[in-house]
Amino acid sequence: MSTAAAYAVTSPDGRFEKTTIQRRDLLPHDVLIDVRYAGICHSDIHTARNEWHGTRYPCVPGHEIAGIVAAVGSAVTRFQVGDRVGVGVMVDSCGRCEFCLAGEEQFCANGNTMTYNGTVPEELQAGGYTLGGYSSQVVVTEHFVVSIPDSLGLDVAAPLLCAGITLYSPLRHWNAGPGKQVAVVGMGGLGHVGVKIAAAMGAEVTVLSQSLSKQEDGLRFGAQHYYATSDRKTFRELRNRFDLIVNTVSADLPINNYMRLLKTDGTLVILGLPDGDLSVAPFTLTNYRRSLSGSTIGSIAETQEMLNFCAEHNIGAEIETISADRIDEAYERVVASDVRYRFVIDAGSF
Ligand SMILES: [Zn+2]
Ligand SMILES: [Zn+2]
Repeated sequence: MSTAAAYAVTSPDGRFEKTTIQRRDLLPHDVLIDVRYAGICHSDIHTARNEWHGTRYPCVPGHEIAGIVAAVGSAVTRFQVGDRVGVGVMVDSCGRCEFCLAGEEQFCANGNTMTYNGTVPEELQAGGYTLGGYSSQVVVTEHFVVSIPDSLGLDVAAPLLCAGITLYSPLRHWNAGPGKQVAVVGMGGLGHVGVKIAAAMGAEVTVLSQSLSKQEDGLRFGAQHYYATSDRKTFRELRNRFDLIVNTVSADLPINNYMRLLKTDGTLVILGLPDGDLSVAPFTLTNYRRSLSGSTIGSIAETQEMLNFCAEHNIGAEIETISADRIDEAYERVVASDVRYRFVIDAGSF
């Protein structure tokens, strides 16, 4: 066992406190990573506050991890000490089901292991559940570690490990590219990366945001059009416009209004997770043969592909870097949508 510094919460309404945690001795396929930066994802907040239920305490969140390999297990072939690497939302899966064998670990039929608050045997993590990236070091089996290309800063790369792949995967799956009209709903931590990636793929990108307050940024990130959804005219003007709409907003939206913005065979993909159910008027689907779908992160191979794509197109997240003693404050600001566009914790402060 080795000891790592970490920041943890011990109850749903507790504040983050500095602590030490144990990391396992390296198994043959394990990689020990010195964390340099850890992004703050909205999921971290839901979990730390037990808003999705089932959080085990003490809880160390963090699944947007960028760092440097500090040691490798005896059988590791893909990484060596000093490599720049990342870890996202998953740290393991069964490796045997049809989805794992097809390289789609995010759909593992036996349930993949989340980077934090995921159930594992005691031998892998004392306490029986995973502790995430708000920590000076993590140990992860090599299959779930990806390489961060040299041209990408580790700080701006960290949020790509969740926010980046969450957008890249559906944009690829539904063929965003030249000649395609793509709308990104919401321009927060997820949406702003989606705008950059969709534009780099060659699609004509429209941002649908509550107001025009981030319009200048959106156009700078590569969007051609920017509309306020608070303006009713928007929904009339954009009717039947889009091949693909990716919805990053986790608030309840009038989904039928958005479905009507799809052209024939268009798809609306849900990425944000509102609490309530969606109520879809059947005729918004039958007319124009529209689809409503969803997507969650992406596979490990696709995460590597996304990082290579972002390096090639010089895409990083827009970040505000903080020290670990400001995590609570950062959470309040994320909840209030007061960040442009992702907080990243400097792991030197753990
Ligand atoms: Zn996340
Ligand atoms: Zn599996």
